[in-house]
Amino acid sequence: MSDDILRRLRRFHTQYFPRLRKQFRNLVDEGQHPTVLFIGCCDSRIVPYLLMDSGPGELFIVRNVGSFVPPFDASHGYHGTAAAIEFAVLNLGVREIIVCGHSHCGAIRALYTEPPAEALHMIQWLELGRDAVLPVTLSEEALRRTEQRSVALQLERLMDYPMVRRRVEAGNLYLRGWHYLIEEGKVLVLDVESGQFEPFDAAIQAARANDPLDGINLLP
Ligand SMILES: [Zn+2]
Repeated sequence: MSDDILRRLRRFHTQYFPRLRKQFRNLVDEGQHPTVLFIGCCDSRIVPYLLMDSGPGELFIVRNVGSFVPPFDASHGYHGTAAAIEFAVLNLGVREIIVCGHSHCGAIRALYTEPPAEALHMIQWLELGRDAVLPVTLSEEALRRTEQRSVALQLERLMDYPMVRRRVEAGNLYLRGWHYLIEEGKVLVLDVESGQFEPFDAAIQAARANDPLDGINLLP
């Protein structure tokens, strides 16, 4: 056992927690009310709270290998990600769902290689990204494109969840597809009209152009 891990616990308790004690007290007394469900990859380089400048209570997060959304399937099984989606939508009433893929994703790369025969669960799980695979020679460019295609694929599958589709169509739930570039600290955002991923700053500009009141905020 690594004592370093225990030392980190002590550091949290003595140094960080005191500054957050009141905030956590409120989150216990009033319950959690996150408005965002973040579906991300297990990759250790993805840190949703940093990425979204968020604090405790703000993000409901489900992570799995590849940021995949399993098919809506009411049959018996241990549907962890589906259960989290249901809880976020039905119990918490989140207003947004983000599917966040990322550059250098091991799950996406694994779609192009032979997994170890022992990895029985992984072999089956990776099938959730299979339709994103391109019939090309493996390259970094192909991997980036596959990562993006997978995000779009997962969003499509999310729309097969009846409670998600109902809320999206009623305008009560908004879906976002992101591709996070680890080496640039930058998110590319899926434009559902064009099917292209655009830099997040271009998406901000586009949102401003569509908002007639936005100019007011620019006045000194
Ligand atoms: Zn990944």
